[in-house]
Amino acid sequence: RFITFEGIDGSGKSTQARRLADDLRARGQQVVLTREPGGSAGAEEIRTLVLTGDPGRWSAMTELLLFNAARRDHLEKTIQPALAAGHTVICDRFADSTRAYQGATRGDLRGTVDQLHALMIGLEPDLTFIIDMDPATALARGLARVGAEQRFEDMGLPLQQKVRSVFCDLARDHPERCVLIDGDRDPDSVAADIASRL
Ligand code: C5P
Repeated sequence: RFITFEGIDGSGKSTQARRLADDLRARGQQVVLTREPGGSAGAEEIRTLVLTGDPGRWSAMTELLLFNAARRDHLEKTIQPALAAGHTVICDRFADSTRAYQGATRGDLRGTVDQLHALMIGLEPDLTFIIDMDPATALARGLARVGAEQRFEDMGLPLQQKVRSVFCDLARDHPERCVLIDGDRDPDSVAADIASRL
């Protein structure tokens, strides 16, 4: 089973992905907790290439190709072997983040994003939790822990709002796999909600 967590920066999705992994492990399940961009040695190197240095270093299209190269490596080295072994894979961000960021905010590349995904990746999650919350609150949370790898410098409120609207559209268009979770609550309540939806 392949489960992904998506949401705007500062939405708490990483915390919730970790909590769900801990919860399932406590029930005896074999769980691989991973993340994107990254999740394999090669993909982590690409993460550094994309998220550090001059933000204008890559064009929107080159960035999209780098994210796809990272995802392909992650798929081959981490996700597919774990699924083949019967483990549950929980991933902090996956292709929906590319649909939102590279597809909608760093350029109008939605069609190209979907074509590349079909060609190079193909896999969709069995279940996607989209942690939805007020972008201003999320941005404040995110800015509080901004680090070398964060791109909040070019993620002002209007962009966060745009990303949020893409995630909400994805939830509406893919009800067979997407569950929208209200992230504007304390972490325990959000975690309990997620566990109950599982
Ligand atoms: O989720 P995480 O905090 O690890 O993401 C690191 C940064 O990469 C964030 O600022 C996020 O907005 C950005 N990102 C991106 N495109 C993606 C995935 C993440 O720009 N497809």
